[in-house]
Parts: sequence; structure tokens; C-alpha cells
Amino acid sequence: MASNKFKRMLNRELSHLSEMSRSGNQVSEYISSTFLDKQNEVEIPSPTLKDKPMSQISGVRKLSHSSSLSSTSMPRFGVNTDHEDELAKELEELNKWSFNIFQVAEFSNNRPLSCIMYTIFQERELLKTFRIPADTFVTYVMTLEDHYHGNVAYHNSLHAADVTQSTHVLLSTPALDAVFTDLEILAALFAAAIHDVDHPGVSNQFLINTNSELALMYNDESVLENHHLAVGFKLLHQDNCDIFQNLTKRQRQSLRKLVIDIVLATDMSKHMTLLADLKTMVETKKVTSSGVLLLDHYNERIQVLRNMVHCADLSNPTKTLPLYRQWTERIMEEFFRQGDKERERGMEISAMCDKHTASVEKSQVGFIDYIVHPLWETWADLVHPDAQELLDTLEENREWYLTTMPQSPSPPPDRHLQHDRFQFEITLEDLEHNNHNHEIEEEVEEGCQKEPLKFD
Ligand code: AMP
Ligand code: MG
Ligand code: ZN
Repeated sequence: MASNKFKRMLNRELSHLSEMSRSGNQVSEYISSTFLDKQNEVEIPSPTLKDKPMSQISGVRKLSHSSSLSSTSMPRFGVNTDHEDELAKELEELNKWSFNIFQVAEFSNNRPLSCIMYTIFQERELLKTFRIPADTFVTYVMTLEDHYHGNVAYHNSLHAADVTQSTHVLLSTPALDAVFTDLEILAALFAAAIHDVDHPGVSNQFLINTNSELALMYNDESVLENHHLAVGFKLLHQDNCDIFQNLTKRQRQSLRKLVIDIVLATDMSKHMTLLADLKTMVETKKVTSSGVLLLDHYNERIQVLRNMVHCADLSNPTKTLPLYRQWTERIMEEFFRQGDKERERGMEISAMCDKHTASVEKSQVGFIDYIVHPLWETWADLVHPDAQELLDTLEENREWYLTTMPQSPSPPPDRHLQHDRFQFEITLEDLEHNNHNHEIEEEVEEGCQKEPLKFD
């Protein structure tokens, strides 16, 4: 499969990077452990103390904050605020990539997800189309927002709001004009909104290594992503929360299937497979005379939606630098807190999670070179020329992190990362070659391999 070839190419690049220096090794380890679906390594198990029954979805709590809401007294943007004018001004930019979700959080009483969901659904007339009562909608999104953890640095409701707004912009890209049905749009936005709910601020691997209840529940497979889905759907059962009450049974079924597919695809260990499939799609893409993509089959459309939300989830480096830098600070803080937990428990500290040794700048350049740029470049090919500006921003941001890297006198800084070109490019020729000469290539590849691959 094409994804295997990409994995091998990436592995080779990463083992090269890891030989360069200690920090290069950390970046390489971070990328391989997060974005490649290698077999789980066994860690020292530590007992868990919780004794919640397995038949319940953990993390679902009863909250009654929104009982005062009624469809007649709905605030303009779905949230109570003393800053409605400032909020209105920010929301004028709703359809733009440069949108500032941090400001929305500030002007909405820290309810960015509720506010953005309400505004997007109004803008797209989804409440009308699917006959969603406004008070039910707001009750659900507030309950959902409350199930994101405010004390988790990155995976809180601000990130969910960001991914939802980014998905909203990507859905409107001219190359996808009128491609998706209303139900597919509803599914993509709902999936983005729930995609990290009840995130505990630690990775799948951490949950597996610590024998957590969640890992037990989902047999170590896409542990968090399965949980986000279960919580997102379960919350629909709370009082006045069923936003899909007026959908037909068939609509509910297809919506559920779409949402499950999209959220499971946000598991980063599926990244290479997703990217390989996207490349194949780009290679065979057909467009109408007006430049709109032709996606006749359900499978093609779901594949684009899956990649779209995955792109939105990995969009921090494509945003303007001040926004990107805030996201980086947050994710590093979350990684370091996980590292602290690992240190306390005497576990091996995960890559990029050791606050004493991690290099923030190098990790961002590596993350862009090996993951974000290859992905967005492919997306940009798919929707050409819609994503050109965003790709330019990504390249400028990479330059910024590269030049901001602390230059240590000895050993010399990673030469590998210093080149002013992207280090890991999967070209369409690679894929073409791979598709046509798959078997021959496998043999040649294996034959040429002098050393065992480090990350296999
Ligand atoms: P999610 O955890 O669902 O938000 O998936 C995104 C994952 O991509 C994160 O958990 C990180 O592993 C990685 N990621 C996203 N943004 C960054 C960033 N700015 N720097 C490093 N890793 C990132
Ligand atoms: Mg996630
Ligand atoms: Zn996410």
C-alpha cells in the first residue's frame, strides 16, 4: 500500500534526523511515536484505583447551567456576555482563516465553542434546515463545552472551537462549492465540535502505558478518539440536548456513521494512511469546467471530509504567527505536564514532554517538515488554487521558528533542519511510481535497505 511506502520514507528521514543530535532525536521520536501506527511498546504497568462501572461512559456529568434559556430570550450569539459589540466585531471575520478565536473566548465569557457553534449554525441556516430548536442547540453545545477540561492547556474547548471554525472555512473553499449535502456539512461541524471532548491532557500512549480505565474500555485502539465520540453522542441524551430529534431515522443513521468515521480519523497514528489516500485522490481528481471538484461517490466525499477535519486539527502552523505561537505554548505546556506525570511515576518520559530537554522551536520545524507541510501541500493540490495563501503563511512560520532556534555553540545546530527547504516531501511521482510498480518497488526498496529501520 502507498501508506507503507510513505511510512518507510518517513522512517528513513527520521532515523537520519535522530542521528544528528540529541534534540533531533527527540523531534524524530515525537513524530514517529505520534504519527506512525507502530506496535505499542510495553511499559511498567501501574495499578489504577478507580472503580467506576464499565457500563457507563466515564466523564459524562449532569449539569444544569442552561435551564434558564428559552427560545424567546436567546442571546444574539447564543452566550451571555457584557461584550456583545466586541464579540459582533470579531464574528464578522467568521469566514476567514485569520479569524481570532482567542478574542472570541475573551468576549464570550470563555464560551468559545458554544458561541462559534451557534454562530456557524445560524450562518449556515442549519437550525432551520434540520429543525433544531435554538434552546436545545444551546443547551447541547454548552453541555458539550462543559465536558472539555478548562484546566487542560491545549485540548480544551478553545481548540475544539478553533477546529470547528477552521472546518467551517474549509467547507466553503471554492473548489468544494455545492459538493456536500447539508447532512454532510452538519456531520463535519458536529464532528469537529466533539472531536476532543473530555480530553484528559495526556496521549493515547500514556493512557495505555498506565493501564487506564479508558485504555481498558477501548482495548488500546484509538482510545481517546473512541471516548470523544462516546461522550459527544451520549450528551445528546441529557435534558433538552437532542439536537437531532427532528432528523429522520435514516438521517440520524448516516450522520452517526459520518461523525464516527471523521472523529476516528483524528487519531494521529492514522495520519500516513489518510495522507496516502488523499494523494491518490489528488492524482485522479476530476473537476468541472468551473473548477469545482467532482466527487460523485459517497466514499470520495467522506474521504475529503475526514481529511478536512484532520487538516483543521493540524492547522495551527498555517495560522498567522501570533495565533500559531499561542497554540504552540499551549501544546508544549500540556506535553510538559504529561512529562511531569511520567517523571513522578518513574516512567520513561515521552518525546517532547521533558521540559528540561525539549526544544520547542526544533519540534515545530520538524512537525511542519514531516507532518504539516506534506499534508497541507496535498490539500492545496486538491483544492488548487484556494489554499495558496495558507501554504505561504505556513512556509513563513517555518522560517520564523527556524531563525528563532537557539543556536548552541557545541554541538552545532541540526544541519538537517537548517536547510531552507522542506525536508520531507512526498511527491506525486513517488505515488505514481508506487502505484504502477508496486511489487518491483517493494523488492528494490527492501534490497536497498542496508540498515534496519529504527522505528519499524
Ligand atoms: P489532537 O490531539 O486531536 O488535537 O490532534 C493533534 C495532535 O497533533 C496533537 O495531539 C499533537 O500531537 C499534534 N500537534 C498539533 N498541533 C501541534 C503543534 N503546534 N506542535 C506539535 N504538535 C502538534
Ligand atoms: Mg484528538
Ligand atoms: Zn484536536
